[in-house]
Amino acid sequence: MANQAGTRPPPPGHEEPLPLPGDVRSPGCRSTTVKRIVRDNALSRLIKNLHDHTCQICGVRPLLPGGPYAEGAHIRPLGSPHDGYDVAGNLLCLCPNDHVLFDLGAILVQDDLTVLNRLTGEAMGTLRTVPSHEVDRHI
Ligand SMILES: [Zn+2]
Repeated sequence: MANQAGTRPPPPGHEEPLPLPGDVRSPGCRSTTVKRIVRDNALSRLIKNLHDHTCQICGVRPLLPGGPYAEGAHIRPLGSPHDGYDVAGNLLCLCPNDHVLFDLGAILVQDDLTVLNRLTGEAMGTLRTVPSHEVDRHI
């Protein structure tokens, strides 16, 4: 049911009224201050180039119109509470899917570089490596 302002009253627990069906609005904009960790983008690019943008877990090399795509993934996360270092040995070259699975704990990389599916306990293979990028096994 719409009120006189052309909106529906907010549902319990919500402060803002809901828009009517078909009501198209642009998202709002506001200024904020964000404190974030400054990562070494050049280091991440180097690692991705050393692996030719090929995922160290699954071997996929996503190719986009702008070129191959990969993500630099920290083995031990930067910042509190993990306080990992932004160094080559703490970085992996992963596809976006494996990056998320790794960061959220669905995939584990053991010290012998065996990759495990944490949900099934099954080994997924061995982390792909290149001679020019030594992964720190004890991070
Ligand atoms: Zn992958």
